[in-house]
Amino acid sequence: METVVSGMRPTGNLHLGNYFGAARNFVRMQDEFNCFFFIADYHSLTTHPKPEALHNSVKQVLAEYIACGVDPEKTTLYIQSDVPEIPELYLLFNMLAYKGELERSTTYKDKVSKQPDNINAGLLTYPVLMAVDIVIHKATKVPVGKDQEQHLEMTRNFAKRFNHIYGQDYFPEPTAFNYTDELVKIPGLDGSGKMGKSEGEGNAVFLIDEPDVIRKKVMKAVTDSGPTEMHQEKPEAIRNLFTLMESVSAPETIERFDQDYNNCTIRYGDLKKQLAEDMINFTTPIRDKIKTIAADESYLRKVVNMGAEKARESASKTLKDVREIIGLKSF
Ligand code: AMP
Repeated sequence: METVVSGMRPTGNLHLGNYFGAARNFVRMQDEFNCFFFIADYHSLTTHPKPEALHNSVKQVLAEYIACGVDPEKTTLYIQSDVPEIPELYLLFNMLAYKGELERSTTYKDKVSKQPDNINAGLLTYPVLMAVDIVIHKATKVPVGKDQEQHLEMTRNFAKRFNHIYGQDYFPEPTAFNYTDELVKIPGLDGSGKMGKSEGEGNAVFLIDEPDVIRKKVMKAVTDSGPTEMHQEKPEAIRNLFTLMESVSAPETIERFDQDYNNCTIRYGDLKKQLAEDMINFTTPIRDKIKTIAADESYLRKVVNMGAEKARESASKTLKDVREIIGLKSF
């Protein structure tokens, strides 16, 4: 069975985009592959988060992915910093990564412009840590979007370089994996682009949002003054609302509003009310689960301990081989 690795950033609550774009795929993958899913807390240290905030985010993201159906019994679900083999392999892989190639990474350049006062070495070697997260379990598949393709290419380069330098065919070269050719993209409520945490207030509907919050956000969603011609093409903001409906509403509901749009009889207020109620119905059971799980400290402790144990078993095997291959042998 092929091995899949994916990291989750501990940066606040999950929204519907995270649900349909990531969590749902994890739930499917866990039945088909040998999965390692981890909370990437080391990665977040490049921005110096407040300790309490970091800890709470890790816990929250863990609880939320479990509530979405990620099953700690089926997958190896762990916290990155619970696996000391990761920083050790990171040290070893740093010797394989060249300054020039790291500086050419687009995410590095992006971060340099975003946080010019904190261009730390961890930022530069971020792709090395990402590569290690993957190769430490000898994964062959990584569920990533287009924006991560460059990091994956670097991972393959480091893996190939290791194999070449030491004359071994040890690390497999991981490839991007997605269920459909077209990646799911959930739009935001602000009329354009993508649902995201940092896209501004009101753009994202979080799984944890209470019904009233969802109603308010959806009612404020950007629309236009309405169609004036029969079968008129929908502008982006309206298309986005229909795309959102497709993720949470019944096909008949969408069909009805689509007809109303085509006949120019649509009332956006009605559409938004319906969309909000369908989102509430969709998120309510998940929100209830999140609350129950997040409040159960002993369950979460059990989950992370079990995850750490399984992850370390796999990671320590790789590290033992690597040390041997490199020549770090005991006397
Ligand atoms: P982020 O919240 O940016 O850390 O995203 C975590 C993962 O959620 C991404 O790698 C995507 O797979 C998924 N994701 C985030 N936003 C969206 C969106 N608007 N539509 C689809 N997938 C998304």
